[in-house]
Amino acid sequence: MNHLGQDENTNPDTAAGPRLDRLADLATEMNAVQRTLARAVTCMGIALHSGEKVSLALRPAPADTGIIFRRTDLPGCADIPANWEHVVDTNMCTTLGAGDGARIGTVEHLMAALAGCHVDNVIVEVNGPEVPVMDGSAHPFVFLIECAGLVEQDAPRPVLEVLKPVKVAAGDGYAELTPADVFSVAFEIDFDQSAVSRQEISVNLVNGTFKNEIARARTFGFINEVEQLHAAGLALGGSLDNAVVVDGETILNEGGLRYDNEFVRHKVLDAVGDLYLAGAPIKGRYLGVRAGHALTNRLLRVLFADTSAWRMEKGRMENDEARSGPAASVRNAAGETPVAATA
Ligand SMILES: [Zn+2]
Repeated sequence: MNHLGQDENTNPDTAAGPRLDRLADLATEMNAVQRTLARAVTCMGIALHSGEKVSLALRPAPADTGIIFRRTDLPGCADIPANWEHVVDTNMCTTLGAGDGARIGTVEHLMAALAGCHVDNVIVEVNGPEVPVMDGSAHPFVFLIECAGLVEQDAPRPVLEVLKPVKVAAGDGYAELTPADVFSVAFEIDFDQSAVSRQEISVNLVNGTFKNEIARARTFGFINEVEQLHAAGLALGGSLDNAVVVDGETILNEGGLRYDNEFVRHKVLDAVGDLYLAGAPIKGRYLGVRAGHALTNRLLRVLFADTSAWRMEKGRMENDEARSGPAASVRNAAGETPVAATA
């Protein structure tokens, strides 16, 4: 089946599928200061692909640190920035690497939780090569972040604004970013297995939408692919505890699905996590059609390669009426005029 033609006139207002939130709280979403955790939090879990037990700690970090993964099991505690340029592998999950060979895999669900909870600065300590998979969704990480609590920092939050459409394609799938007033993600999947089949969704990622509508959607796999994955050394830690497992028209998990369209919601979750590797929240619309980690990363590379396709804006949004919010205070205290910097 070919859905490429459906793309042209699709936008968040007309796309089929539930519209999950309104645009009204865009200002509070985008016109904000940076945030970090109020305190450190830790958890333990299984690595999806290696099957090993790993521990994870999220630690507060100063403004403008960004998100840094730290491999505490390696000599010198290798730091790996959570940035699109550091993506070294996109097979089955998103893996980041640093110049010294240190790698960290399966970062996307944690990245999605950090994006959804508006965490700008954090040190993520992991004592192994993969972030624990937890229950296969971003929800345990959202819970962890909420346990830590968040604090505002004395610096405006940058926003990456998409200025013109960029698109990448591979096979019958594609991914694109287009200018929009909010960050929204639309996704379309089409699988032979009838329990999944064709699903599409369009979501505006504004206050609360990620946590309430997307975070609990679990990763999924097909029973007939398990052997192949195991032979490739992948999904060794996968189980019904951390993935939805599909066999044709049957969901093998005892509790069934968390949402009717949990599969496509999880694809949105993955896209939110992979897109947060842009280094800032995005003002723009992402559309993925049979896309995945590889296409989303290529899309960011194509976007950043064209300096006329984006700009990184700090502080108050254009057209934003005078308000006494924290971003305005920070800017005024610094005596700066809001300027949109084009890199
Ligand atoms: Zn995923």
